[in-house]
Amino acid sequence: MSVELLGFNIDNYTFEEAVLKAKSLIDGGRVAQVITINPEMFDAAEKDSNFANIIREAEMVIPDGVGVKLGLKLKGKNVSRIPGIDFAKRLLKEAAISNIPVAIIGSKNEVITKAVENLKKEISGLNIVYYHNGYFSDDNEIYGELKKSSPKLVLVALGSPKQEKFIYGAKKILNPALMVGIGGSLDVWSGTVKRAPEIFRKLGIEWLYRTVTQPSRFKRIFPALPLFLIKVLSYKDKI
Ligand code: UDP
Repeated sequence: MSVELLGFNIDNYTFEEAVLKAKSLIDGGRVAQVITINPEMFDAAEKDSNFANIIREAEMVIPDGVGVKLGLKLKGKNVSRIPGIDFAKRLLKEAAISNIPVAIIGSKNEVITKAVENLKKEISGLNIVYYHNGYFSDDNEIYGELKKSSPKLVLVALGSPKQEKFIYGAKKILNPALMVGIGGSLDVWSGTVKRAPEIFRKLGIEWLYRTVTQPSRFKRIFPALPLFLIKVLSYKDKI
């Protein structure tokens, strides 16, 4: 089931349902894109019709942050928040259990190297067949390398909308795989950036902790939430 927000369909899954859906896409041998959507991405989509189409064509669009949840609540719809970083970690655990080959792309070289090392330590049986930093100039070169290593789960951390565009480009080229944009997750998994304390996460205000502790994010994200909610309230559904 999905719900509509600002002209986009958002999947209304619980965390567990989203994991099952992702697994069924992998098992079904399809190429699929998962977008974990946040308010900033709606803004970007408004200014960039290519990006808007990518969101419309994605096989799964799940609400990452509290912003999207609040926006839907204003429209009288209740959805579960599915933090992208937790969702991606869970998919890695499922991949390890089912021996699904994984590729990870993004972040600086030392960040991804450390993240891969930590993930392998934490998740026994994790089969990472390919990884590469996120600072490359030729997408086709990476697509070629990905194709050769045939992963079935691909995590991409290039920031948004770069990662969604990279994944969209890969859809036409790669063998069947589930591909997920994971934003700053590698920074956290490498230990470069600390996650918010449990209490912030439970209350769904991890963004608040991150914006306050990372001043560059504060300037970017803090004004975005009230503006997003105003936009949601003033949006007229097209009939
Ligand atoms: N990143 C990358 N290549 C780029 C731009 C960004 O690999 O060309 C990485 C960056 O190192 C970081 C991740 O993308 O690890 C997420 O970046 P950011 O925090 O800006 O994105 P957000 O989480 O806000 O979407």
